[in-house]
Amino acid sequence: MKGFHNKDSSSIDTREGTIKEVYSRIKDHGHARVSHAYMKNVQNQLRLVFWETTAGCNLECIHCRRLDVSTQLAKDDMTTEESYEFIDALAETAKPILVLSGGEPLFRPDIFDIAKYAVKKGLTIALATNGTLVDETLAKKIVDSGVSRVSISLDGADPETHDNFRKLKGSFERAIEGFNHLKNLGMSMQINCTIAKHNSHQLQDLYNLALKLGAEAIHIFMLVPVGCGVEIADDQMLEPERYEYILNQFYDLSREAKIQTKATCSPHYFRIMRQRAKEEGITITPKTHGMAAMTKGCLAGTGVCFVSHKGEVFPCGYLPVTAGNIKKQPFKEIWKYSPVFMKLREPDLLGGKCGECEYKRVCEGCRARAFYETGDYMAEEPYCIYKPKMMSKA
Ligand code: SF4
Ligand code: SF4
Repeated sequence: MKGFHNKDSSSIDTREGTIKEVYSRIKDHGHARVSHAYMKNVQNQLRLVFWETTAGCNLECIHCRRLDVSTQLAKDDMTTEESYEFIDALAETAKPILVLSGGEPLFRPDIFDIAKYAVKKGLTIALATNGTLVDETLAKKIVDSGVSRVSISLDGADPETHDNFRKLKGSFERAIEGFNHLKNLGMSMQINCTIAKHNSHQLQDLYNLALKLGAEAIHIFMLVPVGCGVEIADDQMLEPERYEYILNQFYDLSREAKIQTKATCSPHYFRIMRQRAKEEGITITPKTHGMAAMTKGCLAGTGVCFVSHKGEVFPCGYLPVTAGNIKKQPFKEIWKYSPVFMKLREPDLLGGKCGECEYKRVCEGCRARAFYETGDYMAEEPYCIYKPKMMSKA
């Protein structure tokens, strides 16, 4: 078996596995090259699948892709049988973490059967919920179904901010209650926050809240102007400079190492992380920067994909460019050979300043925001202020 020694590159442990498995293998070794090899994911191993188990939801959040049509669309959700077939196909392709999302996944009456089936097939299951439906009984069912982690979305550090965004009075309190029910049963809990103009001043408060609640992780998502997000984009998208400031602030919080932190759908965080680490004179390793050392910016189509409630496969939930449909084509084939995914796996095809950028392999820019802005998902990320060195020289 390969080891973790520093001197000889042939001894670098490049065994695959979920990020959690690899992290636990190397966290005590602080080995920069191991984490770097995993981060590069040269073989484009599928590591994370977001599955929209249902389009149905009990809330009407103003940024949601599904706002206008959720009840109607839920009729097209995959059946239980189709869901099992999909899980079989996933397990044959890789052993990714499967995130059961929605809509609101707890809307599906068979969601626990699905979770149990996936666990039996060797997948690690996470559940992404708004938390408002989770009472004691439901919390127990979630735990018993074998889910490894639950993420609950909080889009404000106080009831007013969250409820306004979620368009439901009392949803903040209910989400916190749901969180506590699960936490009391020993579930590993994660707080997800979509950061936009209405709450960007609350980053520190959201972080403090996550600590106070005893969450294991806080993940921030920068708003992507897709679906209903388009309608609020003008009001809610942060200016690039403010975006840069927030990501730097998040970097400072992450360095406290009090909780796992992840900036999701903010690819240039991984450029900022490197710039800041360089200024601080430190090497990025799992020891110094946690799991952020083992992943990169945009993972759409390279380590991550999104499967819609109808079986369509997309690079992520915000990039509406279809790679295929699992009802018509084997999932493995789509993941390996779809032209959309093949293209996304070629950073050299990136356009504009992302194409010129020395950080493109660790960042790649948000392909969805590029698509929204230009219609070309390989175009440059429009919300990054960085000027690549090559361009500065020119
Ligand atoms: S395209 Fe954008 S929204 Fe999609 S995974 Fe990449 S960074 Fe996230
Ligand atoms: S220019 Fe593009 S690749 Fe470079 S840091 Fe900005 S978003 Fe990332």
